[in-house]
Amino acid sequence: MSDVMRPIPFAQLMDWILTEHAEKGSIFGIRKVYRHEGGAEPIFAEKIETPFGPAAGPNSQLAQNIVASYVAGARFFELKTVQIMDGEELSRCVAKPCIVAEDECYNCEWSTELTVAQAQDEYIKAWWACKLLSRELGLGDADGFVFNMSVGYDLEGIKSEKVDSYIENMKDASGTGVWAECRAWTSANLNRFTHVDQAFIDSVSPHVSASVTESTLHGCPPAEIERIATYLLSEKGLNCYIKCNPTLLGYDYARARLDSLGFDYVAFDDKHFREDLQWADAVPMFRRLIELAAERGLAFGVKLTNTFPVDVTRKELPSEEMYMSGRSLYPLTITLAHRVSEEFDGKLRISYSGGADARNINELYAAGIWPITMATTVLKPGGYERFSQIAGLLAGAPRKDCVDVASVAALDASVAADHKYQKPVKPVPAHKLDWPLPLTSCFTSPCRNGCPIEQDIPAYLAAVDEGRLTDALAIVAERNALPFITGNLCPHPCGTKCMRAFYEPEGAAIRASKLAAARGGIDEVLAAIKAEGPRAVAGASAHKVAVVGGGPAGLACAFFLSRAGADVTILERKETLGGVARHIIPAFRIADADIDRDVELCLAYGTKVQTGIEVASVAELKAAGYTDVVVTCGAWAPGQVGLESGDEIDVLEFLGAAKRGEDLSYLGSDVVIVGAGNTAMDAARVAKRLPGVQNVRIVYRRTKRYMPADEEELAEALAEGVELCELLAPKAVASGVLTCDKMALGEPDESGRRSPVATGETVGVPATAVICAVGEHIEGELYAGAGVEVDRRGRPAGVATGVEGVWAAGDCRRGPARFVDAVADAQEVAKQMLGVDFSAYAAANVRAGQEDASYAAKGELRVGCEACSKGGSGCLGCATVCEACCDVCPNRANVSITVPGLAQHQVVHVDGMCNECGNCAVFCPWSGRPYKDKLTLFWSAEDMGNSENQGFLPQPDGSFLVRIGGACAAYDVDDAACGLPEEVRLTIRAVRDSYAYLLAK
Ligand code: SF4
Ligand code: SF4
Ligand code: SF4
Repeated sequence: MSDVMRPIPFAQLMDWILTEHAEKGSIFGIRKVYRHEGGAEPIFAEKIETPFGPAAGPNSQLAQNIVASYVAGARFFELKTVQIMDGEELSRCVAKPCIVAEDECYNCEWSTELTVAQAQDEYIKAWWACKLLSRELGLGDADGFVFNMSVGYDLEGIKSEKVDSYIENMKDASGTGVWAECRAWTSANLNRFTHVDQAFIDSVSPHVSASVTESTLHGCPPAEIERIATYLLSEKGLNCYIKCNPTLLGYDYARARLDSLGFDYVAFDDKHFREDLQWADAVPMFRRLIELAAERGLAFGVKLTNTFPVDVTRKELPSEEMYMSGRSLYPLTITLAHRVSEEFDGKLRISYSGGADARNINELYAAGIWPITMATTVLKPGGYERFSQIAGLLAGAPRKDCVDVASVAALDASVAADHKYQKPVKPVPAHKLDWPLPLTSCFTSPCRNGCPIEQDIPAYLAAVDEGRLTDALAIVAERNALPFITGNLCPHPCGTKCMRAFYEPEGAAIRASKLAAARGGIDEVLAAIKAEGPRAVAGASAHKVAVVGGGPAGLACAFFLSRAGADVTILERKETLGGVARHIIPAFRIADADIDRDVELCLAYGTKVQTGIEVASVAELKAAGYTDVVVTCGAWAPGQVGLESGDEIDVLEFLGAAKRGEDLSYLGSDVVIVGAGNTAMDAARVAKRLPGVQNVRIVYRRTKRYMPADEEELAEALAEGVELCELLAPKAVASGVLTCDKMALGEPDESGRRSPVATGETVGVPATAVICAVGEHIEGELYAGAGVEVDRRGRPAGVATGVEGVWAAGDCRRGPARFVDAVADAQEVAKQMLGVDFSAYAAANVRAGQEDASYAAKGELRVGCEACSKGGSGCLGCATVCEACCDVCPNRANVSITVPGLAQHQVVHVDGMCNECGNCAVFCPWSGRPYKDKLTLFWSAEDMGNSENQGFLPQPDGSFLVRIGGACAAYDVDDAACGLPEEVRLTIRAVRDSYAYLLAK
């Protein structure tokens, strides 16, 4: 069954490792193999070459997970917890999917889903495999890594025969069957090694683990926790850590800390805080255990921390409670580390786990905190290769033997101002695309699909990264007529889909790279346009087009239409072109010089311009010989707050007057902006800069989470001292006071949005002026005169208005919208009017033959300041190599293979290695789930029968049983006419011919 993992026999495990490494240079997909140079540091009576590794959890469950971690540089392995309840009995209690690591991570799994005996065998196989790889590939000292057991959850279970024999066998594995199996296979296969000989085999220590981390359930009484630790130290002779819960901090602190960092939606009550170990009990207990360990010559310490139990409130996982980890856990764990280190003067060992990653691990280690274990970071794209980066970062870093209390205090204090630990104010839009996941050839550029004008983002980012700015701008301008305006002002919806955002929230530097291309490439692009002229789309020259309005939409229409060879004239009522960008958007957001360059570009194909012209009707233009009229005159009719009394000022009038430098001293000292969109933010920031204005307040009837303004616009306004007055609905202004109804948020509607409801109370807000920024309206005269039907908001049905030869684009078609939407409309006008094709650079998004660049970028977080970060834009080249599902699978159950005859690598899902944790589905850019939707390799007829996946099973006669499109039949994949879709046939054949180590033996 597909959620049941099938442990891989040692022979197959080693065959896979050795063959993949010999033929592909990787091991379980890890290309960045870490070779340790330098010594190892002591821990217990053992030693570790690097002070980090996987935390007990999904990344330390199977042998291949541990091997993948080792190969990537991990040297301290906290093995997945074992307890008396195991195997199927436990699996039945773990709802699937059980991991969602999109930002902060949640899971609802706990101890190993294998039986205790299987878990033991996995760990012993991994022990052997790591030893052999250390020697064979020169990855480091064969004794330079440590396996740390994790056992739970009560003393009775730990003393049970099942768990006790696990502990004893891990202390000395020499008597186990799996030890004999590993040893025998190695001895019989010495010919497959160059550097491993019988003497090395004989030297492999059977003492797999000499340490343990005690794990207990929430609510475990302190006496039981101490009894277990005492037992493990005294009777089992194990070095021991006690895993502590963040609940030691107390409810009030945890709630306030998470609230202050924007994690206020994380729901929990004080139940666990009351029932879990209390600080007052913990401190004396730890002192007693330190003493006991010292008497026994063993080490004792605390593991900080366990994951944090929170409520499932938004269907994150199919459970009632789930366990939080990752960047939202760091602020709690580091505080606990601070308190513990202070209490014990740095002398109590801390094994750390809680939001560590490449961006903070050096600081943690420098503070004397080690070993450090991680799960969340390696469950994100880049996966285990994030360990490779961490190993490199820590190489040569000096170790402190005691925790440096002052350094930990400084780390704790720095959290509040560190954006790494802060949740964006507004909900992050869904990153997944709405389209189904293709069975084969699935790599795509999600950024491009998220962009309203489908810019060829990977293509131009690559050009910018290589310094080819003219090429880059040519690619941009193919689909975007306003590279300067959008390069400055676009809210970049592409970024919400960007896979790089799983590395750092800001994602790839798409907008900044576009602006760099525009500034660096404009002169040469203009010269080329001058030299080459229009592209002459067939029939275009018969179109004489009047574009009414010289704002962004009009300019973009003129660019695309004139480039295709139409005869275009812009008719603009103001004296200059640029519309809202020119006349309304504050100069501190875009310089006039940048707008000028977009105008220059848009007119470069010979568009004529008449300014100071008020067009009265479409008919007059038709009478003047224009075959087509494109209405792009914006949305300038003022919106209304609807105050019962008092004056309100239209936001566009205000911004226009401010930009013209008019005297606005009549506004007085207290300006109130009513509205919550980007225009409201602009107005607030402009008002804040005016002489005489002391206070600027934005009044909004919901909370900032629901504001339509973009996160960065809101952040800029707040950073400049604008005050946000949430949950206030304005009623009337008089005598310098805006009276507002006080609102509260009602129950969420189906979309999760909570509507404001009046509380009956009123509040007065000082207001010498009230500026209305609640959305402008479309002026309808031109449409009415031309017979264009509009909806109740004054909008025509589409860019084709329904009246022949009359088109509409931009704000006068949609209402106030983004500049990129205006360009999208212009594209659509050009497509529908002239049949313009915008796909000249679509193929360039795939960088054929440059897969290595994508692989090199994987797993590398940008560490430190922007200027010293590697990789330019940070683009991962997702259309060239995606493989996010392969990266993030803790079990290595998604494998990328090269298929002769197919341009893209193909992803094959290996059913027997998957436990349906669901992690790959979180990160796949499509709407689908790789573990359900990708072509699946089955290891047995039973497993195939228990799954509905499309997939294949090798048959004894050399054919393959293939289930495809709901039907199952045997196929000869050497026969091109066998009836299978060609990509499926070629993929199965490639598995057979070049990846036989994936097949069950
Ligand atoms: S990493 Fe690059 S290709 Fe991938 S989504 Fe982001 S910008 Fe697009
Ligand atoms: S293939 Fe996906 S669902 Fe299966 S174990 Fe891997 S990440 Fe989890
Ligand atoms: S995550 Fe995997 S399945 Fe999804 S597009 Fe990328 S390679 Fe394909």
